[in-house]
Amino acid sequence: MRLLSLKYMAMKKTGILISLILVILVLVFGVYNFYKEKEKEKPYVIVLSMDAFRWDYPDMYDTPNLDSIAKYGVKAKSLKPCFPTKTFPNHYSMATGLYPDNHGIVQNSFYDPDLDKHYSIGNRDAVANPEFYGGEPIWVTAEKQGLTSASYFWVGTETKIQDIQPKYWKKYDHNFPFEQRIDSVIAWLQLPEEERPHLIMWYMNEPDDVGHAYGSNASETERKINYLDSLVGVFAQKISSLPIANEINLIFTSDHGMGNISDERNIVIKDYIQEEWVNEVQGSNPTYNMDIKTEFKDTTYTILSKVPHLKIWKHGELPERLHYGNNLRTLDFVLASDSAWSLHWKRRNFNYKGAHGYDNDNKDMHAIFYGIGPAFKNNHIHPTFNNIDLYSLIANILNLQPAETDGDLNNVSDMFRNK
Ligand code: AMP
Ligand code: ZN
Ligand code: ZN
Repeated sequence: MRLLSLKYMAMKKTGILISLILVILVLVFGVYNFYKEKEKEKPYVIVLSMDAFRWDYPDMYDTPNLDSIAKYGVKAKSLKPCFPTKTFPNHYSMATGLYPDNHGIVQNSFYDPDLDKHYSIGNRDAVANPEFYGGEPIWVTAEKQGLTSASYFWVGTETKIQDIQPKYWKKYDHNFPFEQRIDSVIAWLQLPEEERPHLIMWYMNEPDDVGHAYGSNASETERKINYLDSLVGVFAQKISSLPIANEINLIFTSDHGMGNISDERNIVIKDYIQEEWVNEVQGSNPTYNMDIKTEFKDTTYTILSKVPHLKIWKHGELPERLHYGNNLRTLDFVLASDSAWSLHWKRRNFNYKGAHGYDNDNKDMHAIFYGIGPAFKNNHIHPTFNNIDLYSLIANILNLQPAETDGDLNNVSDMFRNK
């Protein structure tokens, strides 16, 4: 009798164990499926920046592929860059949603008095030094929240920021063919889901070079715009043949525009002040930051404020709308020439036909914005917005909890299909 009841109890125990295992299996399967479904809901955002693609190039030149993106997606009248309208400050503002004063990349080259170090785009050690980069770039937000990211040459991706770098990134190589950049981005999107990036920020260094060399109205520039538009077409075509095509949002944008300059409109700073007065001159045509020896500060300001077509501001005294000149790295004085005027430290051969870096109210400095994919409305023209709003826009599409920025999601939410 005792044996029987022991056997019964053992059977009962086994039964409970089997039921428990079944419940656990069902739960595990359920959770697995839940996450698989969630995984499927994770959207993709791919941002291409074409350097110095001015807002009105598509009105001036033939761009059938961008036109078709506008038709089936969103086009902004223009994208307003931050001052100074240069490559590094703006790419990093697009990534962080912060003004250059607040993220610290205040020029393509600058001096940090606290660190006593120089930063410049060609200096590998500086570019790879995390001390220079403030704020939280969108790829850091993504990686922190479990979303894999990748970058092809976006400013700030060649180092760890907050100890985080995109899972895939490349060392800058100016001459790397654009077609191969396209193929690498497509290859990333063909990786197995666990390894596949959901956020890709990539870059092409044109039409900046051609715009500087020939100006915005030249046939060389027209040809480059036609070529870049054809690459946009090739890329969109390759994207559309991927199995995940329906989940992908594409953004085509740029960091700033391009203004025409002339040999007859040059200001040379050294014609007015003496080199011995100067501790630091950083920047490039048409905007500089200068540190002047204490005893020459007043004289320098008095002299330079009288130079026609040149503006000089003391640290902290720039107009509020420029959101610039309060970061230590902007030094004692900020200098900028009027639109269409060039500003150089020394006299040299001036043979460029285009420049950017001017006041961001100058419309020639404005960039492009196009968006297409499940997040974006069809055939929607959006008013001009600031590039510091891009961070909020991307975070929202990717369902990421955003960091604090200077941007505002309300400025872009009207372009979304469902939000
Ligand atoms: P600028 O027209 O002077 O504002 O700068 C444009 C140049 O910035 C391009 O021609 C590139 O050589 C350079 N550039 C852009 N992105 C990067 C990067 N991630 N790393 C190094 N250089 C870059
Ligand atoms: Zn640029
Ligand atoms: Zn440029």
